[in-house]
Amino acid sequence: MARTWGKDQHRLVSVEEAQAAVAEGIEPIGHEPIALEAAKGRILAAPVVAQDDYPAFNKAMMDGFAVRAADCATAGARLKVVGLVPAGGEWTATLGAGQAVQINTGAPVPVGADAVVRIEDTNIAGSEVTIATTVKPQQAVALRGSDRKKGQTILTPPLTIGPAHIAAAATAGAAMLEVAREVGVAIVSTGDELVTPGSARKAGQIFDSNGPMLAALVRQFGATPRYMGIVHDDEGELTARLREALCEPVVLTVGGMSMGTLDLVPRVFESLGVRWLFHGVEVRPGKPIAYGRGANGQHVFGLPGNPVSAYVCSWLFARMAIRGLQGFKPEPPPRIRAILSTALAPHRDARPAYVPARVWNDPGRGLMTEPCLWSGSADPFGLALANALLVRDDPTKPLAEGAAVEVLVTES
Ligand code: AMP
Ligand code: MG
Repeated sequence: MARTWGKDQHRLVSVEEAQAAVAEGIEPIGHEPIALEAAKGRILAAPVVAQDDYPAFNKAMMDGFAVRAADCATAGARLKVVGLVPAGGEWTATLGAGQAVQINTGAPVPVGADAVVRIEDTNIAGSEVTIATTVKPQQAVALRGSDRKKGQTILTPPLTIGPAHIAAAATAGAAMLEVAREVGVAIVSTGDELVTPGSARKAGQIFDSNGPMLAALVRQFGATPRYMGIVHDDEGELTARLREALCEPVVLTVGGMSMGTLDLVPRVFESLGVRWLFHGVEVRPGKPIAYGRGANGQHVFGLPGNPVSAYVCSWLFARMAIRGLQGFKPEPPPRIRAILSTALAPHRDARPAYVPARVWNDPGRGLMTEPCLWSGSADPFGLALANALLVRDDPTKPLAEGAAVEVLVTES
């Protein structure tokens, strides 16, 4: 599939072919240790193994009394209270027949005791406790190793680390986690018409919306954006900035990829050693996207300038490269089934379409979806209403209300 620019090289590839090209030969970026408190959102790169049994001792699950179940085969047993064991404490003697030890949730059950009776089922009078119920062995006791055994795998990579993973790792005895190194993504907006959002704007100029949007998407994909600002349609300026961008393993440029006279990006990248693998995908929006590899294997995406195109292409292609480098299988974003809440007319363009849409859960019908009102790929306002992309693999086919469709959920 490798080819360079030229007039006769306008074959569009399918979304699947494009995704296969991105995924080809991708290797995880490498890993580093990180403290638990800083691990949220990072990608686990090595298994976390239990350093001990969990629980590490027979543990009381209730506040109450540790007893010998055999003493309480009938309700109303009267036992002598011989002590108290709080959480974090220990009862070193062996519990004898006819004895009970007051115990708190989380405390180790004394040797000799085999059950815990909750305080609500007891009556205390002086140093004697009456057990109002019958008691079964192991009642309200979590046995040593009943959750996880020493050496058992607690967390399996790759996964995006969240609060519960951190709790599991800490419980298992870990203080540090091995995580994928951060995937740096250089972002370069190109075009003479662009100015930084918030700055003074002359007639004909527009704010660079793609730069900040792509930085946010990159963060959403768990990578680290390096926004390199706006570059004018000037060969010297572009060469300097793209050379710097190629220091990162992933480069996203936006705009300047078509065949216009000022569309210098492809040529400048080539002069810096990038080999293009495709330019143009059968997809709507996003057709002009180009993808290549740098001399050091960098993943270079030339994204179309229209915001919705840049957004869709980032979801379909750039995300895969980032995920592959993070150690995930480089797979397309998951498509899930939803029910259309409105009929969709056939579209004359047969290219598979990814339409900004809303999804919501209907208590009776499950996940529902409908397209947002948008005026096309240059309309970021319609996109801002969406929390999903509705997939139409063949838009020339009309879809009835109630039809099953697939969506990519983009909200997180
Ligand atoms: P291009 O891909 O350069 O032909 O641009 C297609 C359209 O997207 C044009 O209307 C551009 O002005 C617009 N565009 C290009 N880059 C950006 C950007 N960074 N932010 C917002 N719009 C852009
Ligand atoms: Mg342009």
